[in-house]
Order: sequence, then C-alpha cells, then structure tokens
Amino acid sequence: MKGYVLQEKGRADWQEVPVPEIGPFDALVRPTAVATCTTDVHLIDALSLPGALGKVIGHEAVGVVHENGDQVTDFQVGDRVLLPAGLADWRHPRAQRGEAKYHQSRSPYFSDDPRNGGWFSELVACYDADSNLAHIPDGVTDVQAVAVDDMAATGFTGVERMEIQFGEVVVIMGVGPVGLMGAAGAALRGAGRIIAVGSRPATMELAKQYGATDLIDYKAGDVHDQIMALTGGVQVDSVLVASGGDASDQISTAMRLTKLGGHVSVVSGFFDDETVTIPLEVWNYGVMEKFLTAAQANQGRDWMERLLLLIANGKFDTAPMVTHVLHGWDALSDSLELMRSRDQNVVKPVVVID
Ligand SMILES: [Zn+2]
Repeated sequence: MKGYVLQEKGRADWQEVPVPEIGPFDALVRPTAVATCTTDVHLIDALSLPGALGKVIGHEAVGVVHENGDQVTDFQVGDRVLLPAGLADWRHPRAQRGEAKYHQSRSPYFSDDPRNGGWFSELVACYDADSNLAHIPDGVTDVQAVAVDDMAATGFTGVERMEIQFGEVVVIMGVGPVGLMGAAGAALRGAGRIIAVGSRPATMELAKQYGATDLIDYKAGDVHDQIMALTGGVQVDSVLVASGGDASDQISTAMRLTKLGGHVSVVSGFFDDETVTIPLEVWNYGVMEKFLTAAQANQGRDWMERLLLLIANGKFDTAPMVTHVLHGWDALSDSLELMRSRDQNVVKPVVVID
C-alpha cells in the first residue's frame, strides 16, 4: 500500500509501505478523509520532530474500521471512526493520571513501535482501539469530524484551561482554525464578550460567526492598547493564545491583558523560539497570582466523542472553517501546499478519499 513518508528535511512523498500489523487490542482503519495542518508543514519543512523521519506522517483523519484485533469489543468492521491526533497508552498509570506527555506515548513520532505511522496512508493501525478511536455519530459528516481531532480538540482544551465563567470577558489571540474553535468554545462556555484578534478578512468574518463580539486587527495598532480602549482600561478575565509570531511578544501581551487571578492559555506551537521573556511587571513582580498554561489537546475516545456530540446536536459546527475540500490521495500534496501558501482565503483544507 501507499504511505506519505517524510523522506528528508523539506521533502515528503508517496512510497510503498507495509500494511501495519495489529495487536489484539488494535484496529486497522482505512482513512476516508484527512486534513493537513501547519504542524505537517513544520514537520516537513523544518523537521520539527526528527523522530518522524522515514515515517508516514499525518495526524488528522477519519475513516472506517477495516480489521479488528480479537480483543476489540466496541468497534465493528465498517464503523465510521475519528482517529486521534495523539495516540496514548491509556493503560499506563501516568496517562491515567492525566499527564499530557503520556497522551502521545504511542504517537508515530514519539514511539519506536514500527506499527505506528501517521494517518496519511491507505491503511493505518490504531493502538488500543477501544480507548483511542471515537465513534462518529450519524448526521456528522467526515468533513465535520476530521476537524475535531486536532482543531476543535486543541481549541476546546485551551478554553477549558481558561476556566471561563458566565459573562466573562475573554480574548482570542489568533483566528486560524484553532483560534476559531477557541471562539466557539468560549461562546459555549458562556463568555459574555469575546474579543478576537486577527487580520485576514475571511477568518475575521468566521470569528464573528463562531461567537466573537469584537474584532481587533493587529495590523491597525498595538493589540493591548486597542483592547484596553474597548474595555475602558479594564483587564480581561482570560486570554487564549492561538497566534503565531514571536512567543515573548504574544505571551507578554496576553499576560498584560489579563487581570490578576486570570488565566492565559497557550495553544500555539512556537517552534522558532528558544526562550520566552515575560516582564515581571505583569505578575506584579512575582507577588500576585496569574495563571499561565501551555495546553496540549486532550486525547482519547471520551474527549473526542464528547466533542462530536456537540456537533451532532448542533451546539457548534466545524464545517464553516473548512474552506477547501479536495478529493483523492493525489490531492494531498496540493492540500499541504495550500497550508504552506498562507493564502488569505485558506483556513482549513480537507482531502476526502472517495
Ligand atoms: Zn494538526
């Protein structure tokens, strides 16, 4: 079968790969839709995770169960399933304790297990299917579901770390797909005012659809000053950092915007920076409380099935941010190119495997 393999820094391509062997608790899944992500582009162009070299890449996919190990109980061959962005060994006690590192312990780029490739291949092995796969409810399309495992999962995890209370004022920095999901999550959590910071007209319009009440263009002036002008100089309750750019700038701005006792939740991957510098003044020189969290998307079946339930019942919809639907495995490299292009109108491309 074919797999899309990271050949060397700067180059990934299709090649013949063996069909993965599965253990008794695992499932073999045939992807029916995949999504490309800025993380894939970083992985190829910057070799951000050297462990991925020589492996099939890809971490956003839905599919149907093709074959089951004999101990899989909750999934049948033919079931529509969402694959997770990170594969965990949920039997590991540290994973059960909620340690995020262990939520990736079976992920392709962190595991020595040769069965573990990414999702961009004709068949993929899912370790411990009953714990890691999620059922896709009837009425939720592949395109809707494929945007859940990373985009919605990351945005909503970040929002949970913000601990939003009804009517609070929150800022969403960055309105790429994760930031858009952050706005949707903040709206669902009952934020009273959602101030979205971005620039591209297409995504700003989407941010409004997802619940943003105010839009700030970071190109129009200092972000902190613009938001303080909106709030009458009152700091906000929490900030989601889902933006790119310089880590120190972004996180310092978020900390400065946030009230004492408030939460800054970072879901951006700042791959180009070695250190972060935050002025002590924003913490009142270390003698006042403010929470800063770097959150990685929750993983696992329970979490993903809860997010899918929200979509199934119309609480939010991932579909509007899917701006491009391509068809067939041959379109995968075009989809990656769309992510790379930084085209004004590209938010999230999805490849449907017809
Ligand atoms: Zn992703």
